[in-house]
Amino acid sequence: MRKEIDCEFCGERVLAKAKKCPHCRSWLDASAKPGPKRKWSGDVLAIPRDTALPPGECCMCADSGASLKKKNFVFVPQVAYVGILAGPIGLAVATTILQQKQTLHMPLCQGCGRKWTGAQVFFISFILIGMIAFPVIGAMLGSAMSPRKGALFGVFLGIALWIVGIFAVKYLVVNNNQGIVQSIDDDFVRLKFPNPKVTRAALPNEGDQF
Ligand SMILES: [Zn+2]
Ligand SMILES: [Zn+2]
Repeated sequence: MRKEIDCEFCGERVLAKAKKCPHCRSWLDASAKPGPKRKWSGDVLAIPRDTALPPGECCMCADSGASLKKKNFVFVPQVAYVGILAGPIGLAVATTILQQKQTLHMPLCQGCGRKWTGAQVFFISFILIGMIAFPVIGAMLGSAMSPRKGALFGVFLGIALWIVGIFAVKYLVVNNNQGIVQSIDDDFVRLKFPNPKVTRAALPNEGDQF
């Protein structure tokens, strides 16, 4: 009888020598897979745009029991910001034309999946609600302190604090709970993770784990 093993991706029995699972079409021998392969350079993981990541180990904490969760990544190259020379509309057009998007299914445990989504919801809520709340509260506090010029001063201070707050939430909350896109090109999405050593244990270079 020929030797069989369990496919590590779908659990079906496959021949031990098989390079690719006939049931779920995952590559069992990553070195045989054609095209770009998943690889690390420093703290950044390059993930091929067209291939699936393995479920099982969480990309944030390396715990087992992770399932694949759909995440959308958008990268705006710096050259798009030149569009600001044509005003806010120029910036919006340049950003829309030059941005690269890719959906990846990331292996995440329940806890890390919730933190990833929670950070996103908090960040967007902070931007949208804060855009109104910071200047309004600033105006109220300002006019309470100085009825003549306090309101205007309060509005500007509120807007300044809102902008500082956006950067603070991005660096303290978002960057600590998500894989952050560094670039997207024809072959790869490059992501930076808050704890690259842990992520590397869950998602090593393709070819290293076999
Ligand atoms: Zn399989
Ligand atoms: Zn996790």
